[in-house]
Amino acid sequence: MTSAGTDAIVIGGGVIGCSIGYHLAKAGVNTTVLERDEIGMAASNAASGILSSLFGNPTDPYTQLVNSSLKMFHELAPELAEASGVDIEFAQCGELELALSEEEAQMLHAATVEGEWRSSEAQWLDAEAVREMEPMLNDRIAGGIFMPEVCRVNNQRLSAAYARAAERLGASVREHTEVIGMVRSGLRISGVRLHNEELLADHVVIAAGPWSSIIAEKLGSHVPVRPVRGVNLNLQPVGRSIQTVVHGGWGLLVPRNDGSVIAGATVEEADYDDRVTAGAVQDIMNMSEVLVPSLRDARLNWALAGLRPGSPDDAPMLGAIPGWQGLHVASGHYRSGILLSAITGKLMAEHITGAKPDLIEHFSPTRFRGA
Ligand SMILES: Cc1cc2nc3c(=O)[nH]c(=O)nc-3n(C[C@H](O)[C@H](O)[C@H](O)COP(=O)(O)OP(=O)(O)OC[C@H]3O[C@@H](n4cnc5c(N)ncnc54)[C@H](O)[C@@H]3O)c2cc1C
Repeated sequence: MTSAGTDAIVIGGGVIGCSIGYHLAKAGVNTTVLERDEIGMAASNAASGILSSLFGNPTDPYTQLVNSSLKMFHELAPELAEASGVDIEFAQCGELELALSEEEAQMLHAATVEGEWRSSEAQWLDAEAVREMEPMLNDRIAGGIFMPEVCRVNNQRLSAAYARAAERLGASVREHTEVIGMVRSGLRISGVRLHNEELLADHVVIAAGPWSSIIAEKLGSHVPVRPVRGVNLNLQPVGRSIQTVVHGGWGLLVPRNDGSVIAGATVEEADYDDRVTAGAVQDIMNMSEVLVPSLRDARLNWALAGLRPGSPDDAPMLGAIPGWQGLHVASGHYRSGILLSAITGKLMAEHITGAKPDLIEHFSPTRFRGA
């Protein structure tokens, strides 16, 4: 069966596909988002929800992408609450970058005075000031940098918020709907094949996380996205929790509105294996206890693994897939897909409606041609 055309089909209902769906619907494009499982239950569910900024050269395109997206969230959060009825629990909580030794303290202190953080709002705090801010931290912490602009969201609500808002604007969001191929006429992609039907569209966007490479490969196109596993734990502290994002060593602790703490995150090359291994849980607990010793007694609410969509340069691929008309990609957001979802949705909607936003050019998948 072939169904009548929509203007755009988005393959993948993770945070990236759902944001694109929302921004396309907002731009008046007749949009369908197709998700083979349930909305936002892959990497977008397992993430930590940290929204950090980048310092350094403000004209660097990746820095611009990150900082514009963070800025967008301040308006997007109330906009999505209104448009979807879902509270994404956005909060500007700040982040503490901790020094675990005197040597690290000297390095971090120097970075705030003359290094990468000198022009930012980042502020050096000595050991006493750090513990005043976060009393549950380990006594051995030697100091830290406080970055007030860092925010957090509940990523487990974000994909659904985009999806519901898109639906209210007229988009169709279909779960349990797997795309198994493309409808082609010559070099034009004119839709997608599902198990029992074909859906037609002027534009097809592949936003299927680490599975984007597999979908593109069926057309002989090279979209170099690979899975990078990450595990996170949700811990319910006994007694006092933390207020800021805490980063020390490779460990990250993120407070949630319900008083729980996200603790993570591993970075593992494990192909498409998305199991939570016992070793990952042990590693995260060891790291978490170095930061906040009382987390040893916390209740383990859940453990989740997700496959981050990694790219060769850790930056996303956004825009047209070379060699085809009507085929686009938005993937490879690696460790920042929650943060970059806002700007990705906006840029992809502008790209598809023909507005040619400048920034997107720097992220074209053509940069890996011949790689
Ligand atoms: C442990 C961990 C911590 C993280 N922490 C952060 C953080 O603090 N901040 C941040 O910004 N980012 C973070 N990230 C990264 C972020 O989660 C990812 O970059 C982001 O979720 C990628 O979103 P996505 O939509 O591209 O992919 P996914 O969430 O994987 O979604 C892709 C979707 O496509 C669907 N799909 C695949 N194939 C098909 C098909 N053929 N047909 C239909 N549907 C299909 C899948 O079922 C899936 O739902 C973290 C990730 C992990 C794993």
